[in-house]
Formats: sequence, C-alpha cells, structure tokens
Amino acid sequence: MLYIVATPIGNLSDMTLRGIETLKACSLIIAENPSHTKHLLDHFSITGKKMVQFAEHNEAIVIEKLVAELKNIDGCLVSDAGTPSISDPGFRLVRECVKQNIFVVPIPGANAATTALSASGLPTDRYIFFGFLQKTEPKLLEALSLAQKSEATAIIYESPQRIIKSVSTITKNFPNAQVVVARELTKLHEEFIRGNPTEVITQLMAKTSIKGEIVLLVSFK
Ligand code: SAM
Repeated sequence: MLYIVATPIGNLSDMTLRGIETLKACSLIIAENPSHTKHLLDHFSITGKKMVQFAEHNEAIVIEKLVAELKNIDGCLVSDAGTPSISDPGFRLVRECVKQNIFVVPIPGANAATTALSASGLPTDRYIFFGFLQKTEPKLLEALSLAQKSEATAIIYESPQRIIKSVSTITKNFPNAQVVVARELTKLHEEFIRGNPTEVITQLMAKTSIKGEIVLLVSFK
C-alpha cells in the first residue's frame, strides 16, 4: 500500500491528524528530501522509520525496487511541502503502483494552489493549474490565452525572481485581467496582492525585495 501524505506548506500546525497517524503507522517513508522530512518527523516525534529518497534526479533508479517493496509493506510518499506529486516528485511512482495493483491511498492536506485560490477572491468555479511554466514569455502568454478561452482562473507557481517580469507581461497583453500574487502562504509574512495588472505591478515595484514562495493567479472575468 502507498499512502500519499500531504504535509504543510509552511505552518506545521496544518499537518493533519490522519497524516501524522499514517506516518507513524508505516515503516517506510519515501521522501523527496529525507533530511527535510526528518525535521517534520522530529517535530511530531515520529521515529524509527526507514527513509528512501525519491527525487527527480533518482526516480528512474529507485522506482523498481520501491514498487517491489510496496508489494509487501506499507509506505508513505511525502514531498518537501504540500501534496506529493503536484508539481513535485511522485507521479511516476503512483502510476507504477496503480499499474501493478498496489493500493494508492491519498491522505489530503495542504496544497499551495488551492490554498491561494480559496482566499484570492477570484472566481473558483473553473480553474486551470499550470504549475511551473517554462521560463519564457511565449509559454506564459500561451497558458494565459488558454485560461482566457476556457473562462478559467489561471494558477501558476512562480518564483520571486520572475514575478515582476510575469506581471509586466500580463500588464502589456491582458490589461483588463484581475491578478493575485499569493506569497508565503501560511507563514509569518503571508501576503496577498490583488488588483488589475497595473495596480499589482505598482505594489510589487514598491518593494525593496521580493522573497519567498509565490502562487500567481489570473482571472479574465
Ligand atoms: N506539492 C506542492 C503543493 O502541493 O502545493 C507544490 C510544490 S512546488 C515544488 C513549490 C511551489 O509551490 C513554490 O515554488 C510556490 O510556487 C508554491 N508554494 C509552495 N508553498 C508555498 C507557500 N507557502 N506560499 C506560496 N506558494 C507556495
């Protein structure tokens, strides 16, 4: 059995009771970054687990052995933050488990995309999640055109280094859109910057530096 265990995206109090119970019950923890996950386990006094790394750079090497192991024992998949396999390693392991008839059980919890959307004030009836886009203007424009055509709110994982460039692109090409920059969700410096692209870029430019993790949301209605 493979449990997909969501972990907090900042605030450790967002760890679910079921997530803690599941981590305690499994002997194997498959982690994107074992030393990062160790802090989480220490915080919740979870000890004595076998940890195996499952990250982008070693997925192909470890997947076969892991799947064989999961036929005999229960394992938990965790990523550094949020829901594993959502813009994080995991999808290939889940796909392989499904193929080989190993039960896959989600243990839901934090996810940056839906956390940002829920408090954005933008329409939530239809949304399109792009995760990380390739770092080019045409890719951003292509994604936003698709969202506009679909009448959906676009959700993009963005970096603090690129956010000004991305919002400038939106200002030039979609001046009537509504933009929300959701930064450092659930953390001490949580911030939502909302408005039309010009208003948002003005607020971003007024900052001396932009740090932390960002979800960019764009609506066209
Ligand atoms: N699996 C995670 C999830 O369920 O949200 C996403 C992991 S992805 C590697 C990391 C990206 O998610 C960050 O670059 C940022 O765009 C977004 N993110 C994660 N935590 C965040 C936070 N606390 N505030 C804002 N964005 C966050």
